[in-house]
Amino acid sequence: MPGISRKKRYDRRRRTRVASRVNDLTDVQWTELVSAWGSCAYCDGTDTQFQKDCVQPISRGGRYTFRNVVPACRSCNASKCNFEVTSWLRRKRYDEKRFLERFVSINIGGTTEE
Ligand SMILES: [Zn+2]
Repeated sequence: MPGISRKKRYDRRRRTRVASRVNDLTDVQWTELVSAWGSCAYCDGTDTQFQKDCVQPISRGGRYTFRNVVPACRSCNASKCNFEVTSWLRRKRYDEKRFLERFVSINIGGTTEE
C-alpha cells in the first residue's frame, strides 16, 4: 500500500536525521577522549564511570561531537546540566583556565576529524 510505504520512508529519514545530530561521537572517539582527559574534565575525579557531557549544551546548539564532548563524573554532569560551561565552572569554583587549556589542547591533539 502506497500510504504505508510513504510513512515508512518518512520514518526512516527522520531516524537518520536524529541519529546524525545526536550520535556524531563514535565509541572510538569517546575512548580517545576518556584516555586524553584521564579524569573528569571538570573536577579531576577519577573514581566514577564517566558520562558524556556536552561542553556547549544541546539546548544551546551544542552537539555530541568530538570537539564538544568531555568525560564528566556523574555529579558534575548532573550539576552542569544545561548551564553555560564557564559561568558554571566559576560558580563551582573549579579551575576554569585549566579546563579551557586542557580542552583546547585535547581538541587540537585529537587525531579524529569530525
Ligand atoms: Zn566531576
